[in-house]
Amino acid sequence: MTSAAPAPEVFQATLESCRPLPNQSRLFLCVIGSATNKKLPRFDAGQHVQISFSLEGEEYSQTLSIASGPEKSNWEFIVAKPETKGPATAFLALSKGDTIRVSKPAGTFTLDRIQHPHVALVGGGAGLAPLRSMILSFTAKGCGFSPKSVVLWHGARCIEELAFQREFENLQSHSLFDFYYQPCVSKQGLVSGRKIIANRVDEAFAKSLGLGDHSAPESSFW
Ligand SMILES: Cc1cc2nc3c(=O)[nH]c(=O)nc-3n(C[C@H](O)[C@H](O)[C@H](O)COP(=O)(O)OP(=O)(O)OC[C@H]3O[C@@H](n4cnc5c(N)ncnc54)[C@H](O)[C@@H]3O)c2cc1C
Repeated sequence: MTSAAPAPEVFQATLESCRPLPNQSRLFLCVIGSATNKKLPRFDAGQHVQISFSLEGEEYSQTLSIASGPEKSNWEFIVAKPETKGPATAFLALSKGDTIRVSKPAGTFTLDRIQHPHVALVGGGAGLAPLRSMILSFTAKGCGFSPKSVVLWHGARCIEELAFQREFENLQSHSLFDFYYQPCVSKQGLVSGRKIIANRVDEAFAKSLGLGDHSAPESSFW
């Protein structure tokens, strides 16, 4: 006799809001909260969840990294709107108050295993989500791991598309640790007067490490 595998744990949540980030046409900030009196489960910064929902009679499933700090009861996501129709487009078409199902947070892209005093994070677009969660977790008291210094290399096409730029700039003067924010823009020739590098973030970061020219076709990154 074989026993059936236990059903994966699923949490009922509600879409609280979903709107484009300021100056963005492609990146959305979506917030969900528990739909019951039971809190959403705890997670480690850097983890992702599987979100399932139905829209117009069709079932969808979408993997998203949690972009908010683990101490918050509502979860934020950064969702990139794709060119093609699929789960992400359907998710962005949901309305405030719609019910969604959320899996237990999973993933090993977390800092608890590392615990080094100096942390360098490199990313852009929706890939910023797990990095933002990590940075916010460092700023929360009692998160367990307190690095001495954190550097964020953040890439976007132009200055306007640097999501959460103000938040990261503010963090440089208020953080509990030494935080350094390095924005990089790939499609803007002139960024005079500001501490912004006019280059793709991966290339700029590699150069800063003395790794030479790592140019790759632009389409492979964006
Ligand atoms: C660990 C991880 C974390 C991620 N974090 C983020 C994040 O924070 N933000 C973000 O924007 N993206 C994130 N992604 C990417 C995200 O999961 C999607 O792949 C991305 O949003 C593209 O979505 P898409 O709608 O084009 O669908 P894709 O997942 O790329 O799949 C498109 C395909 O879905 C198929 N499809 C059609 N209908 C359905 C359906 N009903 N259900 C399922 N599939 C269907 C079709 O064949 C279509 O071609 C993450 C991915 C992973 C693996």
